[in-house]
Amino acid sequence: MSTLMKGMEVAKAMKEGLYTQAGELKAKGVTPTLAIVRVGESPDDMAYERGAIKRCEGAGVAIRVCAFPKDVEKGEFESAFLELNEDPEVHGILVFQPLPKQLDEDFVKANINPLKDVDGMCTTNMGKVFSGDHTGYAPCTAEGAVLLLKHYGIQIAGKNVVVLGRSTVVGKPLSILLLGENATVTICHSKTKDLDQVLRRADILVVAVGVAKLVKASMIKEGAVVVDVGINVNAEGKLIGDVDFDEVEPKASFISPVPGGAGSVTTSVLASHTIQAAFSLS
Ligand code: NAP
Repeated sequence: MSTLMKGMEVAKAMKEGLYTQAGELKAKGVTPTLAIVRVGESPDDMAYERGAIKRCEGAGVAIRVCAFPKDVEKGEFESAFLELNEDPEVHGILVFQPLPKQLDEDFVKANINPLKDVDGMCTTNMGKVFSGDHTGYAPCTAEGAVLLLKHYGIQIAGKNVVVLGRSTVVGKPLSILLLGENATVTICHSKTKDLDQVLRRADILVVAVGVAKLVKASMIKEGAVVVDVGINVNAEGKLIGDVDFDEVEPKASFISPVPGGAGSVTTSVLASHTIQAAFSLS
């Protein structure tokens, strides 16, 4: 039987430190504040928003939700975004993606103040992650997956780590963060040949694909550490991961469940980045 890596345990461990840091800022008259920019009301965004509000407020971070209707005009959206970007009382900005077709994600990426870009979407922060400069912000989910491994005492240095998925928001930055921890990293994607064989070489396997139950027990090494970043909704409306948990769990040494695993660390990292942003901007 494997050990479950529970995101809530990491969140609990981070909470006190974050609350103390937020208190230091408040003593200086600064309330660390995160603006959430949401267009429309997709159930995924709404669920993430509720989780972020709860986690951030618990850490002493105020939230300002800037919600727009799905058909908001480009000009209206962009001027509201620029106002937030200039607002000295807003320290972090999180923009839910993808944006509807009439809006331009590149505008946001090009204009967001890198010091407020707490989910690491702009090229400045991406460049910092890739060059090992710790003054930038990595995407929260990618950083959260590394924190989850560290919290459970998993040795990363020298291990063969396979990251399945190469998106800009998860797979790529996560691979670089793990490389920074001295892992030997292999990145896999939909064109990888002999995927099963490559995955079976992993001491640590991190999966961020978006295909329910893609990873089966036959694809992992006995005793591997498995982090499942995937979030999928099954026919019954239940959240499930990219890893076939029931099959893989008995074979793994450590495994993160879905829900309650890697995803639960994301919002704590978001709170942490917002506090860091408030320190650097005030
Ligand atoms: P994405 O942008 O769609 O990227 C998916 C990646 O998986 C791509 O690199 C793709 O390869 C690869 N892939 C797809 N099908 C594959 C297959 N059959 N075999 C091998 N590789 C395959 O997705 P994402 O944004 O990275 O998200 C991945 C998952 O993480 C989703 O379930 C998402 O909901 C979840 N997620 C969770 C959080 C959180 O916990 N807070 C945050 C973000 C995302 P190609 O590049 O070749 O197309």
